[in-house]
Amino acid sequence: MIDVNLAPVCGLYCGGREFFGETCAGCGRLDGKPFWTAQLSAGVCPLHDCCRNRKRLEHCGLCPDFPCKTFLALRDPNMSDEVFNKSLADRKAALQRREEIGAEAWLNEKAAQ
Ligand code: SF4
Ligand code: SF4
Repeated sequence: MIDVNLAPVCGLYCGGREFFGETCAGCGRLDGKPFWTAQLSAGVCPLHDCCRNRKRLEHCGLCPDFPCKTFLALRDPNMSDEVFNKSLADRKAALQRREEIGAEAWLNEKAAQ
């Protein structure tokens, strides 16, 4: 059975993903606190915190304020503008697809790619 924690609020797909040489368990399993959030004063991803903890939504694409300033501003500082803009477009499309077919079907699609 598909683990829905592999579908975080931001539109990424966490299956088999590696960050900086470390394997991340997925922020859904880690309550929005993957390793990089140790660098933030709040200690939690602002997207996960807002979407799951405050608004109680499955993902940001279901939010009436989407894409909010926080969504548009959160980025890896090592990313070029070009890579970031592509990532934003891909994540917006992924969230729209998730809304259309549901997280489980979307994860099955991603796993098959
Ligand atoms: S940006 Fe936030 S919501 Fe998206 S995968 Fe990373 S920790 Fe999870
Ligand atoms: S306000 Fe922004 S971060 Fe919060 S759920 Fe909406 S789109 Fe996501």
